[in-house]
Amino acid sequence: MGKLVEQIESLGYHFQEGKQLLSVAAQQGFTEIRQLLVRSMDGQTIVVKQDDSLMLFPGGIAFSKGVLDVSLADGVRTTCAEIYRDYYNLDENGYSMLLYNYSGRTKQYLDAEKQRIGLTDYKDGLPEGFFAVGHYDELGYGVAEMDIGRYADGRYVAQSALGVTEDEHVLRMHFSHLPSRQDVMDALVIRKLERDFKLGRHREVFHCGACGETRHWLDIPGDIHQKLRLRLQRRCGCDAEATT
Ligand SMILES: [Zn+2]
Repeated sequence: MGKLVEQIESLGYHFQEGKQLLSVAAQQGFTEIRQLLVRSMDGQTIVVKQDDSLMLFPGGIAFSKGVLDVSLADGVRTTCAEIYRDYYNLDENGYSMLLYNYSGRTKQYLDAEKQRIGLTDYKDGLPEGFFAVGHYDELGYGVAEMDIGRYADGRYVAQSALGVTEDEHVLRMHFSHLPSRQDVMDALVIRKLERDFKLGRHREVFHCGACGETRHWLDIPGDIHQKLRLRLQRRCGCDAEATT
């Protein structure tokens, strides 16, 4: 337990552990991460979510080691994930596992891929109005076609085709430049990988069906599309035919 949890507790909040969420590799063995619940002095209990949403602990009179601490009068503003990081003393790998359900190694790779293609974020939501300057179809990964364009605030966007009804959600992916067809396809595979890992559809490490070795999906040669394709076939790339 670190300084952040200590500060919050000095405001009169009390932490409790709930159901088990996951166990992550630590310096020595494993750390069991249980859900955290926090109770205020007047008896309200809030679950600390397993994401990076913001959380405010309203302040008041705080005592730190018996001394009035005015620095906490405004309360503590932090994210749910930071509370878990501090409470369980998580390293970058543990933090990544908690938030995304994949390791720091995969996080680094996916972040680098996003940077390479200029992908800043993506979300499902109501469509935004913009004048399309291009259109890509037959994209794959569950998305047939997307319009590309630019918002008034300068961001570039690729948005999936509008649904049958007006209030249907669409996929919007934001870029730092006008995305090429390849950029959009790469962004779609990144999104698929992030969702699949998060939902536990497949794991990073697997047994190769050809050589029987235990492999990490990032050990598979080739670009991100080939890595995913072979991972889904449970092939590590040792089989030359599978890689062509
Ligand atoms: Zn193999």
